[in-house]
Amino acid sequence: MHETGIIQEMFDLLQEEYPTRFQEIVKVQLEAGLLSNIQPILIQNAFEAYVLDHQRFQGVELEVKVLPILAFCDACKLSFEVIFHRFVCSCGKPSDKVVQGEELRITQIIFKSKEHE
Ligand SMILES: [Zn+2]
Repeated sequence: MHETGIIQEMFDLLQEEYPTRFQEIVKVQLEAGLLSNIQPILIQNAFEAYVLDHQRFQGVELEVKVLPILAFCDACKLSFEVIFHRFVCSCGKPSDKVVQGEELRITQIIFKSKEHE
């Protein structure tokens, strides 16, 4: 399953970036574009399976925000939302210039707060 690999990579990255603090992470927020082929339910399932196998991440929560697809119209000089994979602007011109929808990124990491912080 594609999502399992993504979750694995995400945790590897967190441990690399925060080698001394990764156990204090309480929440990770991901943004996934509709074109990134991420199924929010599958990614939640993969996440829960990973956390079950890795006790040190038991307190971590995952939030997935799904981003709509936006394409840019050269005629209007504006971006428009692509609905049902219809890459046509409201002015009638087609466009395949995707400006949003392919991304998959970590947008927020929340750590357990410490008393002296
Ligand atoms: Zn247009």
